[in-house]
Amino acid sequence: MTRPMLELVGLNKRFGDLTVLHDIHLRVGQGELVFVIGPSGSGKSTMLRCCNRLEEPTSGSVLIDGADITACSPRALNKMRLNLGMVFQGFHLYPHMDAVGNVMLAQVKALGRSKDEARARALEMLDRVGLRHKSDAMPSALSGGQQQRVAIARALALDPKVMLFDEPTSALDPELVGSVLAVMKDLRTSGMTMLVVSHEMGFAREAADRVIFMDGGVIVEEGQPEAIFTNPQAERTRAFLSRVR
Ligand code: ADP
Ligand code: MG
Repeated sequence: MTRPMLELVGLNKRFGDLTVLHDIHLRVGQGELVFVIGPSGSGKSTMLRCCNRLEEPTSGSVLIDGADITACSPRALNKMRLNLGMVFQGFHLYPHMDAVGNVMLAQVKALGRSKDEARARALEMLDRVGLRHKSDAMPSALSGGQQQRVAIARALALDPKVMLFDEPTSALDPELVGSVLAVMKDLRTSGMTMLVVSHEMGFAREAADRVIFMDGGVIVEEGQPEAIFTNPQAERTRAFLSRVR
């Protein structure tokens, strides 16, 4: 494997008596796209949220390019979080700001970039997601697929080392899904390290280096997409795949 950019080491998460993640070990190498599938409630979102400590892991560590985000000061935490770009199912754009303003904001607030610098970078990233011509559009004037691409541009503008996607196309009308997946495929080709939770199995087949199947807070099985989809080893994986297809 290439150098590990994201590493989960013995990660556990409990909410009260409920164990949601149980001893998760996962490495994502530089430039790798790791795809996570599993039934609702299996802990996929919690795993992603533990990576940047939106959820506090109960035990275990998360290393980003070798640095332990679970053992750093609150001040260092804010800096380290910038290494992870997050894209969620909902886009969470500021409704009163145009697209370029949305992509500029965190660059100025969190990275201290000048407005000129942030704008230049924002336009570059909007171009990358195919929305340069929509830079002054308000979110309400954009389709869901376009809003999600602005959200991806916003994350990319902070120069993350790893991109985390949590069901990025689940809220979209079917005809808009392709444009978002195309951007993600392009990112993968350009060498971005990505951890993607999604139900888009066709995308996984085309673009994933590895597929992880989670159930009940554990990694049940992992392997190459073809192997997982055509010849799953675990009964639980087989049952899940037969339900979603
Ligand atoms: P997935 O993303 O795979 O659907 P989640 O990570 O959202 O799964 O949830 C895993 C389990 O953790 C579920 O049983 C869910 O109800 C529980 N859970 C998630 N967040 C919380 C929370 N803040 N408090 C209590 N339980 C939670
Ligand atoms: Mg989820």
